[in-house]
Order: sequence, then C-alpha cells, then structure tokens
Amino acid sequence: MPEIIEKYYSLKELWSSLNKLNKSRKYLAGGTDLTISLSYGEEKTELWIDISDIKELSLIEDRKEFVFIGAGIKVSQLENNPIVKKWVPALAESVKYYASPSIRNTATLGGNYVNASPCADGVLALAASQASVVLNLKNRRRTLPLLSIIKGPKKIDLKKDEIAEGFLVPKIKHEAVFYKMMARKRFGISKAGLCICYRANNKKLEYVSIALSSVAPSIVKAPKTEEFLKNKKIDQNIVKKACEIIKSEISPIDDIRSQAEYRKEIISVFLQRALQKTIG
Ligand SMILES: Cc1cc2nc3c(=O)[nH]c(=O)nc-3n(C[C@H](O)[C@H](O)[C@H](O)COP(=O)(O)OP(=O)(O)OC[C@H]3O[C@@H](n4cnc5c(N)ncnc54)[C@H](O)[C@@H]3O)c2cc1C
Repeated sequence: MPEIIEKYYSLKELWSSLNKLNKSRKYLAGGTDLTISLSYGEEKTELWIDISDIKELSLIEDRKEFVFIGAGIKVSQLENNPIVKKWVPALAESVKYYASPSIRNTATLGGNYVNASPCADGVLALAASQASVVLNLKNRRRTLPLLSIIKGPKKIDLKKDEIAEGFLVPKIKHEAVFYKMMARKRFGISKAGLCICYRANNKKLEYVSIALSSVAPSIVKAPKTEEFLKNKKIDQNIVKKACEIIKSEISPIDDIRSQAEYRKEIISVFLQRALQKTIG
C-alpha cells in the first residue's frame, strides 16, 4: 500500500494542496484497477490522492451542444440516468456487460479511461459516441479527441498531476448497440467487443459510428467500415461487404484471452447482428 492516502472534495482544494505533496503520487478513484496493480506488485507510488468525492467530477450535465459526464461518475450511475439514456445510449447499454454489480458501484468512467485498457467497456461506448476528453491541470483545461492520448495498454499521455475531469459527448440523435464476447455469459473481460451508434431512416444509415475493443493495443474506431456504410440502404449484400471490410481493417493478436482469427470472426458476427438490428 502507499504510505499515505490524501482525500480532497473539490478541485480548488486539490490544486491548492498539490505543492505540499512532495512524494510520487497517483489519483485513486474507485481503486478497482489500482488495487489489482498493487496486488501484482506493479504499484509503487508513495501517495494516492483520493478523488472519488471531488464534486466537479461527479456531474452529468446537459449542456448546449454536448452532454458532460464527469470522470468520477460510477459505472452504476450511468445505466438509468435520463441524460445518458437519451444522448449517450451506448454508455447506458455498456453497463449490463460491465463487471459485477459491486464493482460497478465503485468503478468510475474516468478510471476506466486513464487505465487505458484495450478491453475497457466505458471507453468503447464513449469512442462510439464520438466523445472528447476534458483534461484539467490547475484549472488549465484541454479538450482532446478521446482516443488521441491513449498510446497502448496502460499508456496514456497525461501531464504530471493532470486530471481527467470528464467527457463531452455531442448531442446527436441516435440509437446504440453494444456487444461483448466474454469467457462467461456475465462479468467477464472482453475477448472482443463492438459498439455501434447509428440513426437509420427507411433502412438507410444516415449516421453511423463504430468502435471496437480487444482487437488492437487500445480501443479503436472502424473508419473504413463507417465510410462504407454511411448513407447506404442496408440489405444482405451491404451487410456481407461491411463484414469483409471490418475484418480487413483490424489486426488482433493471440493472447491469454483469445485468438486473433476468432476475434476477427466474432467482430464480423457482431457487425452482422448489429446491422440486422438497425433495420429492425
Ligand atoms: C473483478 C473486476 C472486474 C472488472 N470487469 C471489468 C469489465 O467488465 N469491463 C471493464 O471495462 N473493466 C473492468 N474492470 C476494470 C475496472 O473496474 C475499470 O477499468 C474501472 O472503470 C476503473 O475505474 P476505477 O475508478 O476503479 O479506477 P482506479 O483503479 O481508481 O484508477 C485507475 C487508473 O486511473 C487513474 N485515474 C483514475 N481516475 C482518474 C482521473 N479522473 N484523472 C486522472 N487519473 C485517474 C488512477 O491513478 C489509476 O492509474 C474490472 C476490474 C475488476 C477488479
């Protein structure tokens, strides 16, 4: 365990206290990833800064053109929130596949993002929802495309002490489908996952955004498949071609959880099912 855990309740309190903390440090939100790293002996920081009750990170707000979701929001808070259900349906959908109910009550969306896992369910849903991340360092804010600072498993380009404050999701009317293949029916880490946000009109896809998990070193989008599907009327031929395209734009690997070929296959099956769903 770290020597000390400091806890703050507002960003003002956090920023004014940082200078006094001359130890190696990390933020602690729900601790569900951090404590696993600790148990593997990978966690050596002297001080954890508990941000789980910082009020500015616990907001879900309907702003003019965007929805703001604070990084400290717990996964379980996403499922039935009316703003999330209306404008970020992918996130609401993702919750039922996300760990167990007890973990959901502790784990935060911000922790899921900063941990930068290729299997992160929250990041998968945010990426398909075209989210940006809002970073904050002593009240200097940067708003960046969600995936632009994720560099690989557990690798994220944050400045020292920079906090993920929250996520901005554009208010685009759409529906979402979220699929995740796990070793068990419930409560498993993803072998492969697909999330699609779409708006269909008379079987034509007017809007489509696709993100994938566990097929690359980080969560990725599927731009070629999106481009192919945009404004197309969905029929069996289009579904078949889209499935070929999505398989050609990913290069998964074999690892402890699954095999590359299986991952490709399951992604194309998920896309096929999702496209059938878009046309009812
Ligand atoms: C049993 C189990 C099952 C799980 N199942 C799933 C699953 O099905 N799907 C899934 O996606 N994940 C799963 N996870 C992983 C984990 O629960 C999630 O990634 C979770 O969202 C992490 O959030 P946290 O608040 O616990 O992060 P923490 O452990 O508190 O933090 C993780 C990392 O992010 C940093 N951090 C946290 N918040 C911020 C912030 N706002 N700004 C800057 N840095 C920050 C911390 O310093 C740390 O490096 C599982 C974990 C366990 C233990």
